Amino acid sequence: MSLPIQLYNTLTRTVEPLTPITPGVVKIYCCGPTVYNYQHIGNLRTYLFEDILVRTLRYAGYQLNHVMNITDVGHLVGDGDMGDDKMAVAMRREKKSSMEIAEYYTKIFFDDCAELHITRPDNVCAATQHITEMIELIKRLESRGRIYVAGGNVYFDTSKLPDYGKLAKLDITKLNTKARVETDTNKKNPLDFVLWFTKSKFEGQELQWDSPWGRGYPGWHIECSAMSMKYLGDEFDIHCGGIDHISVHHTNEIAQSEGATGKPWVTHWMHGEFLLTGGEKMGKSQGNFLHMGELKARGFEPLAYRFFCLSAHYKFQLSYTDEAMQGASNAFSKLKSGVLRLKAEAAGKVGVEDKQTISQFQSAILNDLNMPQALAVMWEVLGDHKLSAADKLATLYNFDQVLGLGMAEWKEQSVEIPTNVQALVDARANARASKLWADSDRLREEIKALGFIVEDSGGTQKVKKV
Ligand code: AMP
Ligand code: ZN
Repeated sequence: MSLPIQLYNTLTRTVEPLTPITPGVVKIYCCGPTVYNYQHIGNLRTYLFEDILVRTLRYAGYQLNHVMNITDVGHLVGDGDMGDDKMAVAMRREKKSSMEIAEYYTKIFFDDCAELHITRPDNVCAATQHITEMIELIKRLESRGRIYVAGGNVYFDTSKLPDYGKLAKLDITKLNTKARVETDTNKKNPLDFVLWFTKSKFEGQELQWDSPWGRGYPGWHIECSAMSMKYLGDEFDIHCGGIDHISVHHTNEIAQSEGATGKPWVTHWMHGEFLLTGGEKMGKSQGNFLHMGELKARGFEPLAYRFFCLSAHYKFQLSYTDEAMQGASNAFSKLKSGVLRLKAEAAGKVGVEDKQTISQFQSAILNDLNMPQALAVMWEVLGDHKLSAADKLATLYNFDQVLGLGMAEWKEQSVEIPTNVQALVDARANARASKLWADSDRLREEIKALGFIVEDSGGTQKVKKV
């Protein structure tokens, strides 16, 4: 039996019970990365939110079919069919083929995900491997009179769909009558969008395929409709992405899928809020982004970033600053030391999960993934005075199925301490024995400058690598 769960649905703007189409089975599609550059830690916040969702659903006893695409063609710099293809931009920048670019950044994306303990979806599908399905879907739309061809491109005719824009609650009349900011004069209405590009856009496009409408390549939105429907069917339960996808990408995905089938497509739409920096959305086009390599170079471990993201509800913006990240990193170290102490105390004894706190944890996560509240329950367990160390550990391991921090694998690190560092540690022990606190603090800083941290625990000093 699966546990009932409530999730916010962007379509209705309310928190609703999830009622899977097939009881006990959740079919879920998450928009994946455009592999023309590193995913920044803002993008990764969205994949972390989706990972928490997926883990929570599994924890609650649902069987999952989790699909994610890799965009390796067709995503233009502007979501509204403007600008260059992002892959073409990367090819010029790096002087490599689009396949080399896609392979390189896809690998880095999954390496980052592995370090962040983001579960790999059951099915990862690349756009370039699904051109036939996209063409078939456009043909389906054609047979229902939803498309038109102009200037060599195939467009979706938004005027043919009475509820176009329902996800974003777009005011269609206003948007269509406002002055055209676009240069694409082929469009009958500004909100119409490209399903298939032919010669009109980029003469030099490396990736091209034959189609009934001419040799060319697909628009970005059609790939998600085609791949999700191939693997999950004409109707499925949850579709996710970042909030920037609501007004264009997801709106157009709905138009394509419902335009082809004539029936409702996805029941539950979920969107993660942005990671901000300097008060603005972290973004590649904004040029204010950090990728995982840069975060690690600042001395932060990937799982501390996971912990940082867990501290905010997915529906709220989260601001990245080095200070805030340092705070999360300190709290994460505190959690690690606490768990390691419990391990030492439990000495291998297997404990019993504490039912009461588990039910508190569950009510937090099953209420629209309230992770800040779930973390509060976790800290309570750690500081509890009644539970044994073994029972606390068993309870924390239960939570960790969702938190995904890998607590069971945490080990006391044995570090090789260089002799110059050991000499400073010994000098600090003497200073402390003589109550020379200023000397002790100065020596701690000198030790830190050499890449080691000294912690005082029960009258002894523990030395760790920074
Ligand atoms: P992209 O590779 O640009 O398609 O983006 C991948 C995912 O990251 C999408 O779901 C975006 O909505 C999401 N995203 C982009 N910028 C941010 C941000 N600053 N914070 C959180 N998610 C973001
Ligand atoms: Zn998508």
